[in-house]
Amino acid sequence: MAFRLGIIGLGKIAQDQHLPVVAKNGDFKLAAVVSSRAADLGVPAFRTPGELFASGIKLDAVSLCMPPEPRFAIARDALDHGLHVLMEKPPTPTMGELDAIAKHAASRQRILFTTWHSQYNAAVDEAKRLLSGKRVTRLHVSWKEDVRHWHPGQEWIWEPGGFGVFDPGINAFSIVTKILPQPIFVQAAELETPANKSTPIAARITFKPSWNESARLTADLDWRQTGEQSWNIDVATADGLELQLRKGGTELYVGGVLKTAAPMAEYEGIYAHFADLLRSGASHVDGAPLQLVSDCFMMGRRSETAAFL
Ligand code: NAP
Repeated sequence: MAFRLGIIGLGKIAQDQHLPVVAKNGDFKLAAVVSSRAADLGVPAFRTPGELFASGIKLDAVSLCMPPEPRFAIARDALDHGLHVLMEKPPTPTMGELDAIAKHAASRQRILFTTWHSQYNAAVDEAKRLLSGKRVTRLHVSWKEDVRHWHPGQEWIWEPGGFGVFDPGINAFSIVTKILPQPIFVQAAELETPANKSTPIAARITFKPSWNESARLTADLDWRQTGEQSWNIDVATADGLELQLRKGGTELYVGGVLKTAAPMAEYEGIYAHFADLLRSGASHVDGAPLQLVSDCFMMGRRSETAAFL
């Protein structure tokens, strides 16, 4: 029988991905939505998460599709009402909240699933396989896009807890933490922040390896790129392997030759994984990308740049 799902927050990502992907996945049945706007999707609609939880409507799980700041309290209340919880990326604004909600889910014997959509690409899986057991000598992330195109009118991204350029940057970090055979740490970060905003519009990061060899590990994130967008990750290893992930992790080149390319099906992969977790009774909580972003803010030097208008 299909899992009865509630979707909370009908913003851009819920409409672009969650609603259409759930509609074509036989393992799920949309059973309720929560939105501050009028929603006519043929299922009961509630104005707030609290109204949904108090309604007594029968649900198995909820997907949290709002920005990260209010997630902890909504996830806690969902778990307390016996629901399993899928969280959009980034799961919470802080590592403290993520640790606490993971423990809370375990104590309630409910499933918590922290999603990182960029990890759901065949090219990313292949890169991970090729890098297994290797020593990385070089990593460069170039993640540059046009904030005006991708986040029109979204004020939350400029507020504390909204991540700024790390909102897309954390997608790159979620690929890096998946494919590298050993962890990396943030050594230094320069956070270019508009004079009228609280979060960075660009960041240059140097990482250090956890292994006992030198490695050049860097990332360049920028939200001011117009024209062609760059979502690139390059990795080299001591034995001469050279990998290039392109187009956000959908294409993998090995030594300059295209090896893996598959049509984008990230959210199809997310909901297939969620169905597996619900059937097996296991949570999947991955805080590594959030830890790197958190450490960028911890180790970062803020510099002021032109106001963003
Ligand atoms: P968005 O378009 O600004 O929509 C966010 C929605 O969340 C709002 O429209 C609102 O839904 C709901 N919301 C806001 N505050 C809430 C609260 N306190 N309680 C309950 N619901 C609340 O944002 P988005 O682009 O969809 O991004 C949402 C999350 O998805 C972010 O964490 C983002 O990183 C992630 N994400 C976004 C994209 C993308 O392409 N935009 C891609 C992947 C992941 P209603 O208007 O229905 O009330």
